Amino acid sequence: MTLTLTEETPPEGFERLVRAEDADSGLRALICIHSTALGPAAGGCRMWDYPDWDAARRDVQRLAEGMTYKNAMADLGLGGGKSVILGDARRDKNPALFRAFGQAVQALEGRYYTAEDVGISPADMAQVAAETPYAVGLEGGQYGSGDPSPFTAEGVFQCMRVGAKHVFGSDDLTGRRVLVQGLGHVGMSLAEKLHAAGATLIVTDINKESTDRAARDLDATVIAPDQVFATQMDIFAPCAMGAVLNDDTVPLLSAKLVCGAANNQLAHPGIAGLLRDRGIRYLPDYVVNAGGIISVAGEIHKAGPGYRRGRLSGIAERIGAMLTRAEAENRTTTEIASDMVKDILATAKRSVA
Ligand code: NAD
Repeated sequence: MTLTLTEETPPEGFERLVRAEDADSGLRALICIHSTALGPAAGGCRMWDYPDWDAARRDVQRLAEGMTYKNAMADLGLGGGKSVILGDARRDKNPALFRAFGQAVQALEGRYYTAEDVGISPADMAQVAAETPYAVGLEGGQYGSGDPSPFTAEGVFQCMRVGAKHVFGSDDLTGRRVLVQGLGHVGMSLAEKLHAAGATLIVTDINKESTDRAARDLDATVIAPDQVFATQMDIFAPCAMGAVLNDDTVPLLSAKLVCGAANNQLAHPGIAGLLRDRGIRYLPDYVVNAGGIISVAGEIHKAGPGYRRGRLSGIAERIGAMLTRAEAENRTTTEIASDMVKDILATAKRSVA
């Protein structure tokens, strides 16, 4: 192994950007630490076939900053960071590559905790963990948190109830038409909770096996993926991909509330205003979908199940406060969320100074 670590100059407002290369295993990776104001940075590792280093840099920086926001709002005592491995997750994986990446994480001496993200499996993370204790999201062991998806789904569900109370005057979801877009790890678990709560489920997925299962077991009405914005619903739960709320789709959306797990649901920041102007309440994705990182944080802090439960209900409470403020100040929930994060970070910086 010939691991080389290069400190790059991070953009303003970021703490560190480290490039890791190992010719023997083919590792090419970037680790970005946006902020450790609240604690060591935590955020997953993504493996993606970026066209070049610059594309990877842009992505890791955007994602690391997002983790600062998500971790601050979930009150985890963790800062924001992220890593990316350049490569095709189906073609370029090998154990030595993940061992080399583990050594790179170890070289940061606990300032960054990594876990699975797109393209990385628990088996890959186990290789990383052989080189460093700062790899989490592991299966087994005393504190191993395993698949975070059920926690993410539970957080979304709790936030949706709080949102329903604000929008419809009751958190009872009985008979509410909820459209779940994407029945993957999170979406299916959310759909099960919604079914148990008496919601009228409408679902869509490009995978027929999943929609068949939801129709059979959860009495769900199945619609084609391209029919989402032509469908009548009360609540929209995007649980597939990003940028589903954009200039073309928002004018067509019939829901009064949006609450789902997908990352980066808004195609651009202006979409928040468009939703508000249409009277649609949007619950910011990075607040609502923090259940996954809450689960991982429990592993980092070696905490019992009470930690995860408390933090999950904490995000639902924060969503309630955010909605109340957004209504009182006639501002978007995303503006309020970003103000709340800035206050949390400023308080942390003051207490350190
Ligand atoms: P997943 O890959 O298990 O599920 C995604 C599902 O969406 C799949 O079933 C896929 O077939 C479906 N899909 C893809 N394109 C679609 C389309 N055009 N229309 C309808 N369905 C489509 O992913 P997941 O782990 O369930 O995560 C879902 C979303 O939530 C992602 O955006 C992810 O980044 C985000 N998220 C997940 C977690 C977690 O704990 N897993 C945590 C935070 C955020």
